[in-house]
Amino acid sequence: MSRARLTELRGPGVRPRSLDARALAALAANPGCRRRALLDGAGIDKGALAQALGSPASYGQSQFALIRGNAFEARVKADGGTELLRLLHERLAPGTPPPGPEEIAAPDLSAAGPEGRAARTALALREATAAGGWALLDHPMLVLDVAGSPAYVEPDAVVVHPDGGWTVVEIKSFPMIDGSADAAKVGAAARQAAVYVLALEQVAEHAAAHTGRAVRVRDRALLVCPKDFSNLPAAAAVDVRKQLATTRRQLARLTRVEEIAAALPEGTTFDLRLTDDGRTPTRPPEELAEAVEAVGAAYAPECLAACELAFHCRKRSRQEGAVEALGRGVRGELGGLGTVEEVLAAAASTDADQVDDPAVLALRRAAALRAQALAAAASRAPEPVCR
Ligand code: SF4
Repeated sequence: MSRARLTELRGPGVRPRSLDARALAALAANPGCRRRALLDGAGIDKGALAQALGSPASYGQSQFALIRGNAFEARVKADGGTELLRLLHERLAPGTPPPGPEEIAAPDLSAAGPEGRAARTALALREATAAGGWALLDHPMLVLDVAGSPAYVEPDAVVVHPDGGWTVVEIKSFPMIDGSADAAKVGAAARQAAVYVLALEQVAEHAAAHTGRAVRVRDRALLVCPKDFSNLPAAAAVDVRKQLATTRRQLARLTRVEEIAAALPEGTTFDLRLTDDGRTPTRPPEELAEAVEAVGAAYAPECLAACELAFHCRKRSRQEGAVEALGRGVRGELGGLGTVEEVLAAAASTDADQVDDPAVLALRRAAALRAQALAAAASRAPEPVCR
């Protein structure tokens, strides 16, 4: 299977969509989805595909939220990063005094194009590490090799410590209330931070060779959020070791994208056949749906917050009555029962062959309890009053 086949899947003349940290993190969050692995690996625009299928994605930040998020980030990084370094000390090095603004280097990372910015970032990291002081890299550009292609990712900041440690900083606009934040959002931020740590590890190897110093990419990222709905910053250290291991494994698996493509029926393509202005798809949605269905998916409700195709996959999952649509927890409890129809049949059955199946026994018991509760409620219902 060649790169030409991946180009054919996108459509002639369609530029591959690059993977950012959010996309890489979402890919790692649903390792079993071959559909997403193929579409992302081939650089297909899933948002445009979902739109053409008639199930556009609904997630994404509003313009207002973006402006508010940018203003918060600027506030966190103000005064040469003094406040940010204070938060970092508070969470990652309690008891040590934070550096003053004059002690924090802020290298210029501007360069042409992502390649130029990534090279400039790598140089700045090496220089800051060799200097042995504090440095704050604002929006550095990092590069990761994903299935043989470069993916450029941009953390909010990276802090270089005097001991040669590098810490990823993620600044988010969701609130941290009484020291804790929405677990799902923190999980997504941790997966994103893990992608940055992975990309930094590749730079660290070169930096250690160049500077002769030990360089350590820290596996605890600093998450900064607004405190209790105010615009004051609060921070937490987030351990990303687990996410790092998952992301590493997933990215290694991505090399199998060409294998997934090879298993597709001859001539399968996700080409939207856009009009000359590049806006309107001319390919019939039924044809596109057929191409999409040719690749296996692993829908779970979590997809709704992470994948542009979620509404399409949810619709199909519901049509098939797949229990995955009910969530991974429920799916795990149901053992070998794969559809809602099978679950209802198992709950109603009295088949003696299934008595060893704990899921079937639990369903029968639940059905019996429900029937009892309904009967009790019916017996307590007041007589209708006739006037
Ligand atoms: S929405 Fe569909 S394509 Fe996207 S990760 Fe979920 S199952 Fe896979």
